[in-house]
Amino acid sequence: MVKISKFAASTTPYTAGEQPQRKFIKLNTNENPYPPAKECADAAKRFDVGQLKLYPDLAVTRLKRAIAQKEKVREENVFVGNGSDEVLAFAVRAFYDPDGGKVIFPKITYSFYPVYCNLFDVKYGFAENESDFSVDIEKLTGGQGAIIANPNAPTSLSLPLESIERLLEINRDKPVIVDEAYIDFAVNTSSAVPLIERYDNLAVIKTFSKSYSLAGIRCGYMIADERLIKAVETVRDCFNSYPVDSLCQEICVAAVKAERYHKDCVASVIKTRKRVIEELRRRGREVLDSDTNFLFVKGGQSDYLKLKENGILVRWFDAERVRDYTRVTVGSDEEMDTYLKALP
Ligand code: PMP
Repeated sequence: MVKISKFAASTTPYTAGEQPQRKFIKLNTNENPYPPAKECADAAKRFDVGQLKLYPDLAVTRLKRAIAQKEKVREENVFVGNGSDEVLAFAVRAFYDPDGGKVIFPKITYSFYPVYCNLFDVKYGFAENESDFSVDIEKLTGGQGAIIANPNAPTSLSLPLESIERLLEINRDKPVIVDEAYIDFAVNTSSAVPLIERYDNLAVIKTFSKSYSLAGIRCGYMIADERLIKAVETVRDCFNSYPVDSLCQEICVAAVKAERYHKDCVASVIKTRKRVIEELRRRGREVLDSDTNFLFVKGGQSDYLKLKENGILVRWFDAERVRDYTRVTVGSDEEMDTYLKALP
């Protein structure tokens, strides 16, 4: 038998939600039900395929500028990568050491964090979530840094900005990654990006996959102090000099500029979310207060199976404390009506 690495032979990787070829109502991977902005389609049409003979713009100049303008930061504070997952991976490698103590994150959070730590041999420690799934920030200390998703997945709960600031205080001089994949859907909190002026240990990560409806393009970015950005660039340049392809750069520039459409899409998702939560609660179903584009609904594997039988995919995690829930993406109004109808 051909020898492979012990790592590849023994590691359990992250399992992504299914991408079925059959026609399902897909409420399992927190994609946006609305299409990308028309400006993105225009950018794709304008795109000169002949240009693909060349490598993409290494510095991601125009996209970085557009992101910097939108986020009100300097271009030196922006790093762009192939999806926020990749940015997260680079950040873990760039910020933490195998012999530097644990990186702390909540027990119930995005399950890619322990996977990346394992990949890079970085130790990690879990902070137990409270009985209502909330996170006690004071527990996220004592290691070489912390990672937090705000709002969190799969719980859909968010923490106020003061808690994030406290997290930065209790981890002074240690990098803190704040994963804001869902921040645009939040009404009870706001982005930590303005805090980078005061906290050089803060790295905020965002994505085009959710509120911008561009999960298929694979683009995410980090906003942080220049020193952290440089560290992540060093890791990127040890892996792949060009993670952001030319077409992606054009389409994402168009997406950032289509502000009105972005706002409208987010507003529609928030409106549907409110309606579905109200309806679930009216039926006596427990559902957490969501600050994201998904719901964390009580009712575990049996819901998942029943919904699947009816052509609706939701996410079910067979893990301690969460196995009695499903995570349900907020789809279009029509999709959610079908979901509500099929829900046992
Ligand atoms: N962070 C969180 C909390 C997520 O749920 C996801 C989506 N699975 C990501 C990051 C990664 O998103 P992407 O790689 O598509 O940017």
